[in-house]
Amino acid sequence: MRILILGGTAEARALAQALAGRSEFEAIVSLAGRTAEPLPQAAPVISGGFGGAEGLARYLRNENIDVLIDATHPFAAAISANALKAAGSTNVKLLALRRPPWEKVACDNWIEVESVAQAVQALGETPKRVFVALGRNELQPFAGAPQHFYLVRSVDPVDPPLAVPDAVYIAARGPFGEAEDRDLLARHNIEMIVAKNSGGQATYSKIAAARALGLPVVMLKRPALPDVTSVATVEEVVDFLDHALTLSTARGV
Ligand code: NAP
Repeated sequence: MRILILGGTAEARALAQALAGRSEFEAIVSLAGRTAEPLPQAAPVISGGFGGAEGLARYLRNENIDVLIDATHPFAAAISANALKAAGSTNVKLLALRRPPWEKVACDNWIEVESVAQAVQALGETPKRVFVALGRNELQPFAGAPQHFYLVRSVDPVDPPLAVPDAVYIAARGPFGEAEDRDLLARHNIEMIVAKNSGGQATYSKIAAARALGLPVVMLKRPALPDVTSVATVEEVVDFLDHALTLSTARGV
């Protein structure tokens, strides 16, 4: 069974790893190609996109893909929409692997917003010390509020830097620890955090650290994602594939 995993997440890597020892499955991982040094994968990798839903459909046909697993980040809404269209037009089975969003607990102070522009507004006019945990391509709106100090953590270096007078950049890939993030926030006297509701454990540390320090979090809500069959864990994807394999073997007999 040939499986295309739309990746770019820890879960997609873990899925490729889980399928690596299974000779009945042949997985390919697809990356957008945004990260300068992507982590190695336990399956062959293609990178750079397909050219829209039609391009993805063409790839599915040409490569005789049986199952498409959308294991992309919950904020990667465009590729998820393309996955639904391409799977629909080619009759390829589609399953989404989606981590549940983080839920606010009683003592959390979250200001939920729909966009980065709204997040910038939520910081207010008064200069503040702000920790920004977003991708390097999402930072531009912060240049419109140069009165704040920004501590920016992103996977790849921010180049060119933001056009603001006071910013510090950290290029680092999770997972991070809560104590580490508490220390980081305290060391830079951070007053507010901007994050997106990615879900999962790898980057939850900043949310837990904000809670411990009583800091408000400007939380970007998830974009609307297509309504497709989805599961929350790698194990459930493997179960789905095992089941699909059993059905196709039975049909072949
Ligand atoms: P997006 O807005 O949904 O997609 C934009 C375009 O990038 C797509 O139309 C597609 O190009 C290409 N693309 C995206 N994911 C791809 C994949 N896995 N394989 C091949 N092409 C892909 O995506 P995004 O938000 O920029 O995210 C890009 C990648 O980074 C995703 O793989 C995602 O899992 C990962 N990521 C995203 C975030 C985030 O916050 N957005 C965070 C962590 C990791 P074509 O139309 O040419 O096919």
